[in-house]
Amino acid sequence: MMAKETKLYDALGVSPDATDAQIKKAYRVNALKYHPDKNQHNPDAAEKFKDISHAYDILADPQKREVYDRYGEEGLSGAGGPDPGMHGAEALFSQFFGGGGGGFGGMFGQGGRPSGPRRSRNIEHVLRVTLEDLYKGKVAKLALTRTISCTKCNGKGGKEGAVKRCSTCNGTGSVMFQRSMGQVIQQFQSVCHDCKGEGEIIKDKDRCKTCMGKKTVSEKKILEVHIDKGMVNGQRITFPEEGDQGPDILPGDVIFVVDEQPHERFKRKKDDLYYRAKIDLLTALAGGSIAIQHLDNEWIKVDIIPGETIHPGMVKMIANRGMPSYRLHNFGNLYVEFEVEFPGNNFASPEQLIALENILPPRPQLSIPDDGMVEDVVLQDVDPMHQQQSHGELDEDDDEPGTERAQCTSQ
Ligand SMILES: [Zn+2]
Ligand SMILES: [Zn+2]
Repeated sequence: MMAKETKLYDALGVSPDATDAQIKKAYRVNALKYHPDKNQHNPDAAEKFKDISHAYDILADPQKREVYDRYGEEGLSGAGGPDPGMHGAEALFSQFFGGGGGGFGGMFGQGGRPSGPRRSRNIEHVLRVTLEDLYKGKVAKLALTRTISCTKCNGKGGKEGAVKRCSTCNGTGSVMFQRSMGQVIQQFQSVCHDCKGEGEIIKDKDRCKTCMGKKTVSEKKILEVHIDKGMVNGQRITFPEEGDQGPDILPGDVIFVVDEQPHERFKRKKDDLYYRAKIDLLTALAGGSIAIQHLDNEWIKVDIIPGETIHPGMVKMIANRGMPSYRLHNFGNLYVEFEVEFPGNNFASPEQLIALENILPPRPQLSIPDDGMVEDVVLQDVDPMHQQQSHGELDEDDDEPGTERAQCTSQ
């Protein structure tokens, strides 16, 4: 995804596709370089340091970073915030993704708690599906890696009582400090170094060995995605609460969105299928059969009744051979558009052509008036090179464009 704006990345001197580790490293290097304690004679450094801390606060948080990438800093402002417990980023997520699903906070009140745990955002995956799959139905098994609460420590990060609130930042994960820059006192916010922004401290020996104190572990899970007959492009298949889970975060939904791939033989419009059939001139005029391989790989033999003339571009219908309709399982129609292939030059002898004259309807009369001036010409093959050249000349030759054009068509 293209970042909407890059100001925060610029502040850290990284590109918008930087990894978390690169962002962290850039923050360390820059924070050290511009720390006010080291730059007492450089008043610009304080401002720079503030920008760096601010950028890191947002880019180190995956949710905030995503909001920033999508909507820029505007998206993070939160405009007062609809819920005092919500950060700007979350408010925005609930606005965009939480609709109907409960969103963040408040709606999961367990045991009458005024605000329940947050819910991780829904994750959407594009599911490429062939027209065959949508015709026959299919079960796709997809591996999903997600974050779940560590079961070893029950999502606590260590033994009971091992997790202490960080006294440096009082559990907030960030610290404020003031510096006087001459007359002005400025206040800065920075990530707490003692707890690395976690707000909590766990002694190494008490740390859960399974999750290393992170409270969560990643789990690989196989999801069986049922692609039902007749599903349509853009249709959503929802797995409730299979998203990321955390200590205080309820899992969001995992949603697969059907992305119907173009088909080489058929086009689909709702439950109808469209097929383009090439037929020879004899079959078009005198009847015969064509074969269509359907989406279940079975063949349909289509009989063209002798006497029924098929014109180029004509569309005919085969009833109930389109797509199955979703959940109802009746079928749309199959429409066949004909392309008539004519035989090549000299396919028949002069005698056979006379025989043809006797069979086909007579030629229509020429519509040249009796007193019209007539010049007799024959057709020539078009030379694409020559055609291009003369069109090129046409652009420059404004005097007699009519003559040029006439040459093109009459040659
Ligand atoms: Zn702290
Ligand atoms: Zn654990």
